[in-house]
Amino acid sequence: MASEHIRFLIIGGGIAGLSTAWQLARLGEGPRTTLIEAEDHLASHSTAVNAAILRSLAEDPVSTTLGLRGARFLREPPKGFSETPLVDAFGLLLTAGADRAEELAAWVESMDPAWASRFESLDADQIRRRVPWFAGDVTRGWWFPEEGRIDIGALVAGFTRGAREGGVGIRRGVRVERLMEEHGRVVGVRCDSGEEIRAETCVLAAGGWAGDLGAGVGSKLRLKPTRRHLMVTAAESNLDRSWPVLWYFGSPEEGEFYCRPEAGGLLLCACDITDVDPDRYDVDSEVRRLIATKASRYLPELRDARAAHFWCGVRTFAEDGRFVIGSDPDVEGLFWVAGLGGSGMVCSAEVGRLAAEGLTGAREDRALMAALSPARLTKPELG
Ligand SMILES: Cc1cc2nc3c(=O)[nH]c(=O)nc-3n(C[C@H](O)[C@H](O)[C@H](O)COP(=O)(O)OP(=O)(O)OC[C@H]3O[C@@H](n4cnc5c(N)ncnc54)[C@H](O)[C@@H]3O)c2cc1C
Repeated sequence: MASEHIRFLIIGGGIAGLSTAWQLARLGEGPRTTLIEAEDHLASHSTAVNAAILRSLAEDPVSTTLGLRGARFLREPPKGFSETPLVDAFGLLLTAGADRAEELAAWVESMDPAWASRFESLDADQIRRRVPWFAGDVTRGWWFPEEGRIDIGALVAGFTRGAREGGVGIRRGVRVERLMEEHGRVVGVRCDSGEEIRAETCVLAAGGWAGDLGAGVGSKLRLKPTRRHLMVTAAESNLDRSWPVLWYFGSPEEGEFYCRPEAGGLLLCACDITDVDPDRYDVDSEVRRLIATKASRYLPELRDARAAHFWCGVRTFAEDGRFVIGSDPDVEGLFWVAGLGGSGMVCSAEVGRLAAEGLTGAREDRALMAALSPARLTKPELG
């Protein structure tokens, strides 16, 4: 490998790394950027196994802002980004039982009023008319007609093609063993093949593995990889394919549940969450039973449906649940694009934009960058 000068070395070829590479290419930094991915294929971990749901509303208003901006990109990507639409907008219904209705109403109220035309508030009767097949105990709901399912393949392909065309070097099958440090500064990476790659800045976009790589050079940032399961029912369950995404916030005992149409069946999630080691986790048959129990309670028509697929993946969170985008406050030469939790696909374009602008100092969105900065988690509050 020729030793060319690398300004930005992105570690990880999931959606975080690819969207950052694409946005760096748009800023003219492609020829000085290299992305390395451990696997032989890009986007083969969390980015490949998620529910592909476009839901922009989150508990945290900062995350909602990222979601709304990310959703706008998905609906109206730049010309030439994808030959096919990135969203199948069959609508998304957020519903809550009496225990959580007020909490959800507060999330909605915290949205910038400029987005108010994007959704409609529903009472219990209106919800029952819209989703007559749903037997959950609902009090209030919010209907987002422009939301639905993201075409993950098209999104990944668009970022990858644009990054390559903009000059980003993409190398697969290159696994970082550790970050290299000289005089208190990260200067590159050492790969498990023994190769050393030097760069001005290392961009940690390594999903569930980012936390350990950063800790190896003394970063104080801690991230938590967690596991979540999904199930898809067999196609013969005689479903009306025009169902929207339905996301239910039940009582504290019930927890959350969501479903959406998938390949003639339904994709179901019991919203489980368990801490895991990203190198050592597997499916848990208890969760399979939990999904079946919730599905037969909320979707009685589906009582006899068979499971066609059942799998799990990793969602990685910072302590406060918000993404981490920015320079490490304690380790020079290290920049984070991580902790994308359960909405990395929705927010991908915005994540890449903020990361690329933070890296290059171009037109930085200062208030948002401060809210996402790793320093918010590693610096003790003053006073
Ligand atoms: C069950 C489930 C459902 C979800 N549903 C949704 C949803 O509906 N909507 C939504 O927006 N989001 C959803 N998500 C979240 C979304 O999938 C994640 O936020 C997103 O994929 C995170 O992307 P990433 O690039 O950070 O991580 P990843 O996709 O895991 O990418 C990290 C990459 O880094 C590479 N890497 C790691 N270590 C090294 C190393 N040492 N050297 C080189 N490369 C390395 C890995 O091989 C990997 O390719 C869901 C997630 C799960 C698990």
